[in-house]
Amino acid sequence: MASEQQLMQTLHRIDGKGYKAYKDIQGDYNFSGFRLYVDHVQGDPFASPSLLRVRVPAAEAAFPEDLFNNYVRRVALQDYLTRCFARQIRELPRQNRGSGKSGTLLIDSCGQEILERTAMLVNSDYVEARFSLGLPARGRTVLGREAAEIFSREIPAIVKGALKYSSLDGRELRHHVNTAEDQHYLRRLLQERGWIAFVGNGAVLPRKSGVSDRPLNTPGLVLFNSPDSLEEEVELPHAGKIKGMAIPEGVTLIVGGGYHGKSTLLRALERGVYNHIPGDGRDYVVSRDDTVKIRAEDGRRIANVNISPFINNLPQGIETKDFSSEDASGSTSQAANIMEALEVGTSLLLLDEDTSATNFMIRDRRMQALVSKEKEPITPFIDKVKLLSEEKGVSTVLVVGGSGDYFDVADRVIMMEEYKPVEVTDEARRIAAEMSTHRRKEGSESFGSLPQRFPLSRGMEPRKGKKIKIAARSLNAIQYGEQNINLAFVEQLVDYSQTRAIGEILYYLYRKEYLDGRYSLREAIEKLLEELEQNSQDILSPYRDQHPGYLAMPRKYEIAAAINRMLGLKVQQD
Ligand code: ADP
Ligand code: MG
Repeated sequence: MASEQQLMQTLHRIDGKGYKAYKDIQGDYNFSGFRLYVDHVQGDPFASPSLLRVRVPAAEAAFPEDLFNNYVRRVALQDYLTRCFARQIRELPRQNRGSGKSGTLLIDSCGQEILERTAMLVNSDYVEARFSLGLPARGRTVLGREAAEIFSREIPAIVKGALKYSSLDGRELRHHVNTAEDQHYLRRLLQERGWIAFVGNGAVLPRKSGVSDRPLNTPGLVLFNSPDSLEEEVELPHAGKIKGMAIPEGVTLIVGGGYHGKSTLLRALERGVYNHIPGDGRDYVVSRDDTVKIRAEDGRRIANVNISPFINNLPQGIETKDFSSEDASGSTSQAANIMEALEVGTSLLLLDEDTSATNFMIRDRRMQALVSKEKEPITPFIDKVKLLSEEKGVSTVLVVGGSGDYFDVADRVIMMEEYKPVEVTDEARRIAAEMSTHRRKEGSESFGSLPQRFPLSRGMEPRKGKKIKIAARSLNAIQYGEQNINLAFVEQLVDYSQTRAIGEILYYLYRKEYLDGRYSLREAIEKLLEELEQNSQDILSPYRDQHPGYLAMPRKYEIAAAINRMLGLKVQQD
């Protein structure tokens, strides 16, 4: 371990030299009150920035133990500190420190969710932040003095401002951690009470815009308020008693006129699998953590999925128990999305008519009369939704503004009226009794078994040419070897760092040979998640012992979604 002074001496010595001289600073250094690790030095000024860590001993950081004494609280504390660290960086005086990204400090950025990230680690020994720095240069010449200033002034200021309990707003921090724990508690309560989701009164569901996930704050905003018939009171460990709408298991319809807030409610449930930061407006909006949003996704690839509960008798005798397609239709893609969710294990499906294939959702009496069942491969969702609930214990929440045929299969109906929910189950029942649809039920009496598939690593080659190539190109796209994985329609993937983690996870599964036919897809993912839990996401790091810094934990459904969309995926069915 070298001293801060030695780092300064090195930086002054290499000042004015070629950029490669920066390699000399790799190593770790004792600063006053913390340790600095220079893990990876960039090869040139335009390459990805250098990777650094600072580690503050617990005695210096002085966070009360109860802020990180369980998983949920620790993740929330880490999240809070990551945000503080980012704020400290933003508040540094802006200076021109040379060409390109010279002098730019960066830590992973956080959105409205509280996710487990590799950017920050708190344990009983230390607090560690993982971040990056563009080592300053003019052209390709080391600006050693500029670098010295960053190391000796800026980084210590950030550490002092963000990683020490005494510098932080203790009340705000505690509230952050408690809010996360309350949401976690509420999510667990769902299971116990036989609910699938809870939406607290006073919640803000709409978002600022299609591109901003922040809460809407216009004067026209209508706060959520539960219908009396669905209102329940719960007691949370920190917030105490709160009331809100509890949706029981079964088949729930969300109906109402266009633009009355149906999709907004559904989207809030979609995101209810994650904890949100205080002030997000969805602080007490939670859904089962195994909730999966289902949509049509025409054009996607499908590899050996049994879609036979929904699709049969395709033209030319194409088999649907083991269905593959390079370019699926709206209905077959939606069927595959459901079967894949069931394969990984879910207890709640969310569907919105806005993003569903019409012929997958419904086939009315008149169409049944014109096109006989023998000529129609699709058994619509309306004929399966009750079976899913009763036979498989899988509930559904469905937005339908257009088809009253669903009244026959619904356990409850919630109407959105000017952004206010009203329960209209009895009325819908009465209407269903008075106006028969004369629809014939289609499909078999049982949903059928849910086969597991066993992926093979043949299709998981991570190399492009000779080099291993894995990179998240955006929130929705991973380059993996020769292939591009398109996740644009995987709607519960919310953070770029989750996408990066999924890329690394695919490679990990490949390296560990978990996809060699021994394990089913579900088993392989569960095994991996267990290993991540026992160690940490650090084991995914492409730099091995060095810090990964830019990963956030994805859910198993989004990992499966990526594998299922790989162009090279090969599987065996059991
Ligand atoms: P629907 O699915 O019923 O057609 P949306 O959920 O898409 O309606 O909502 C339509 C618009 O109303 C969106 O722009 C949304 O942001 C806005 N909105 C939704 N809920 C509220 C609310 N509670 N208060 C104010 N505006 C809302
Ligand atoms: Mg809508």
